[in-house]
Amino acid sequence: MTPAATAPAAPARRAGGGAPPERARIVIAGGGFAGLGLAIRLKQAGIDDFVVLERAAAIGGTWQANTYPGCQCDVPSHLYSFSFAPNPGWTRTYSRQPEIWDYLRGLADRHGLHPHIRLGHELTGASWDDDEQRWNVQTSRGDWSAQILVDATGPLSHPKVPAIRGLRRFEGKVFHSAEWDHDHDLSGERVAVIGTGASAIQFVPRIAGRVGELHVFQRTAPWVLPHTDRPTTRLERRIYKALPAVQKAVRAGVYAGREFFLLGFIKDRRFMAGAERVAAAHLRKQVPDRELRAKLKPHFRLGCKRILLSNDWYPALTRPNVDVVTEDISHIHGRTIVLADGSEREVDTIILGTGFHVTDPPTARLVRGRDGRTIAEASATGVQAYRGATLAGLPNLFKLIGPNTGLGHSSMIYMIEAQLNYVLDALRVMDERAVATFEIRPEALAAYNARVQSQMAGTVWMSGCASWYLDANGNNTTIWPDFTFRYRRQTRRFDPGAYVLRRSADVVRPALAA
Ligand code: NAP
Repeated sequence: MTPAATAPAAPARRAGGGAPPERARIVIAGGGFAGLGLAIRLKQAGIDDFVVLERAAAIGGTWQANTYPGCQCDVPSHLYSFSFAPNPGWTRTYSRQPEIWDYLRGLADRHGLHPHIRLGHELTGASWDDDEQRWNVQTSRGDWSAQILVDATGPLSHPKVPAIRGLRRFEGKVFHSAEWDHDHDLSGERVAVIGTGASAIQFVPRIAGRVGELHVFQRTAPWVLPHTDRPTTRLERRIYKALPAVQKAVRAGVYAGREFFLLGFIKDRRFMAGAERVAAAHLRKQVPDRELRAKLKPHFRLGCKRILLSNDWYPALTRPNVDVVTEDISHIHGRTIVLADGSEREVDTIILGTGFHVTDPPTARLVRGRDGRTIAEASATGVQAYRGATLAGLPNLFKLIGPNTGLGHSSMIYMIEAQLNYVLDALRVMDERAVATFEIRPEALAAYNARVQSQMAGTVWMSGCASWYLDANGNNTTIWPDFTFRYRRQTRRFDPGAYVLRRSADVVRPALAA
């Protein structure tokens, strides 16, 4: 860890009235993979007039916040890192949280990002000023005025607390997996874990041996495949260091394999049937008890929800002190979780492994466009973004990891890099053509979204399960339903023809938009 990476936030300026807003050409909200990646690319392009606002006391985004025991990436290390910043020293084939967090902090050091980073600055509002042609950005520690606002707050940044009656009045300890309380000793406690998603399957095996009783509340049994994670050897690391081309080739191989697997998600069910057989054998092998196995058998098509990888999830559930509860939770009373069938579990601590506000992030209620409406108000029927990056009525705003850029089969870092290309090219076009503002044309956005959604139809993600990929209307506004190289190709260049471009306050001549 570097001292600079966790330096305290600058002294607060008075938010709201008082001090005039600070000015920057580009304000980036969010200091995770996407925000830091953009900062690096801006520096490399010689653009220095930007600031990264990060709400936490340290950079790293989801890899700073998620410190739960066992937190690990389920995408191979070589692919889950920037192509322009490979790390020959990964100690595992699938990196764990501390190493990924170190990687990001190392990048911030190496690329001189610290002068641009404002820690402890939480975005509290942003509105477009059409007269000034700038964004007014409010944070918990002062205001900013920016020509361009980049929302890099990410889809996994707002923990979801389930609406269980009585949860807020629970008399024991409650925390979310993304806000793990390391000061709270679970030893010997009666613990309830709600949720059996990607996070829970990683931390449950780590705490099962420590707690007295563990009640795992499972609403939907996930598909779990064997994990191929292993430590990298010293020889491998030395080879990658001495011969970067070898690491590049390994990365390319991993990438190609993942793209091939996409066929199972979008086209050919035979791929998924094969993977389902592997997962079923994994369950049979690891869970001898027939009754428990029946509880853990998934009832939806593999891939519809995120596929999970683990070798120690099922064994943890077979421990004598662990109880898998499949009955719905009715309510919580005192320290007691009451189930729909009237049975009860008394516990000391509840750990929520219940995921994140992905399709309904709070930032959508904070950012107001040209007509004064928030993103949430303007997209009541489902949020849409052109190339996953620009939204109607929101001039000069880029959303990184925006709608329909998520993946079920490969690395988000690849998608982030594609978006960074798009942003950098947009800045080039703005400079070359003296463009002050860009705004996506509604018809271009509608046509783009119609294409994405027509590709979505018939994919495994729309095969009938309830997943966080779907919004409240049942639209899949999360997943990119195609090969990632196609997204990369589509975002290589900013496409001015899809936008209304303006110079200062004037609508630009059609020739400019052509
Ligand atoms: P998640 O995948 O959304 O899982 C949430 C779990 O909580 C599900 O089992 C869900 O059940 C359950 N749940 C939600 N609300 C509930 C309620 N009211 N009552 C009972 N159960 C409820 O969340 P997550 O495990 O935190 O993972 C979120 C995402 O983070 C992942 O999909 C992944 O993209 C990312 N992640 C990645 C890694 C990695 O290795 N790269 C690790 C951790 C997380 P249902 O299935 O029935 O909805």
